[in-house]
Amino acid sequence: MRTALINSPVSLRIIPRDQHPISRKDISVNTLRVLYRLQEAGFAACLVGGAVRDLLLGRKPKDFDVATSATPEQVKQLFRNCRLIGRRFRLAHVVFGREIIEVATFRANDDDGSGDRKVHDGGMLVRDNVYGNIEDDAMRRDFTANALYYTVEDFSVRDYVGGFEDVQGRVLRLIGDPEQRYREDPVRMLRAVRLSAKLGFTIDAATAGPIPRLAPLLSEAAPARLFEEMLKLFLSGHAVASFEGLERLGLLDSLLPQVAFSLRANRTGALRSILIEGMRSTDARIAAAEPVSPAFLFALLLWPAYCHALATLQAQGMSPEEAQRRAADRVTLNQLQTIALPRRFSLPMQEIWLLQSRFSGRQRKRVHRLAGNPRIRAAYDFLLLRQVASNDQAEDVVFWHEILNKPVEEASPESDNNNGGSGRRRRRLVLTVEPE
Ligand code: ATP
Ligand code: MG
Repeated sequence: MRTALINSPVSLRIIPRDQHPISRKDISVNTLRVLYRLQEAGFAACLVGGAVRDLLLGRKPKDFDVATSATPEQVKQLFRNCRLIGRRFRLAHVVFGREIIEVATFRANDDDGSGDRKVHDGGMLVRDNVYGNIEDDAMRRDFTANALYYTVEDFSVRDYVGGFEDVQGRVLRLIGDPEQRYREDPVRMLRAVRLSAKLGFTIDAATAGPIPRLAPLLSEAAPARLFEEMLKLFLSGHAVASFEGLERLGLLDSLLPQVAFSLRANRTGALRSILIEGMRSTDARIAAAEPVSPAFLFALLLWPAYCHALATLQAQGMSPEEAQRRAADRVTLNQLQTIALPRRFSLPMQEIWLLQSRFSGRQRKRVHRLAGNPRIRAAYDFLLLRQVASNDQAEDVVFWHEILNKPVEEASPESDNNNGGSGRRRRRLVLTVEPE
């Protein structure tokens, strides 16, 4: 019934102002400015996407996107503070100080031969700058809940795909044929998991159904895009729910193959406990507005793979130090095949791993050198996670807790023995997980 509605010629439902909660008060002044200016110039212009969805749910939108009948060039003529960006999607950014309003021209999803559209053999979209009308624009969006339009013409919400009802029912439903939509853009599978985790929506059965089978298509997605999507999945405050969603829909094997493999190989389940514990603490940090770093996140996510590789190499007779370095390199290189993890994150990630084996040493010089390492706080936070999950690091945690929390005058580990009178002040170790 519903599928028939979505695939049939589009039917418009108008939800008038008195039947929805969206008020201009909740929309940024600059966004309203853009909407009114476009409208005064004779173009159609609506607030669209995540912002409309979030406002209907009573949530504060992360950003405001505008869709319009004006072309990017026409938008540029209307706003002095406008720059055109993008190749895959040509977009106008209207810049007001730190706020950027993204203005996109209505686009179509099917090719009538008039536009600039390229499709791969497998059905994947490479570029799609085919302009269209608002109905076309609604149809090419991913989920019904993301395809609602709010207009300042009469303050109504316009719904071409049944999205209003789905927001009320808290259902995530792909527009059109799910398999075809995933083939066009496999990242939509991750978006389904992410948005259901973030919003607490259920994924409609027909939308979730093909995911386990189509998950391998993710390997065709651009690695840089997957990296961005990973950050949204795991650093937006709902990492645990995202991880469980990825597992449930069979996406972990394609996204983090080595992790999926090593979790299966780890019969005790201890490695999974560390992952979940780490994500829980990441979510708590975000809820408390504390900084989180991609390097720490990836150190956590890939830790099971690192441990597995390390054990394998050591079993082959390699020395611990050599094995650690090789395991870190191997895991990083393998992961780079799917997700483009920039070096500014992969290097500190590896360091967090390599420092883990150094917490057990008690030799004064080594302790001191480790205490001065710029990554010590991140590495110690990581040690804490391992301790919470396995309870094997209690002694090291106590020892290092003292060192890292000593006040300035006695921050040196040798300060209370025969070296104590040196009089040199030590740098206080108050590094947190470094924001990157
Ligand atoms: P968030 O609140 O996390 O930003 P969002 O839905 O706004 O969620 P964006 O990535 O900001 O997500 O995308 C804005 C809008 O663009 C979406 O609401 C959707 O309508 C459309 N969109 C984004 N990605 C896709 C995609 N891969 N396929 C089709 N439409 C998409
Ligand atoms: Mg958004």
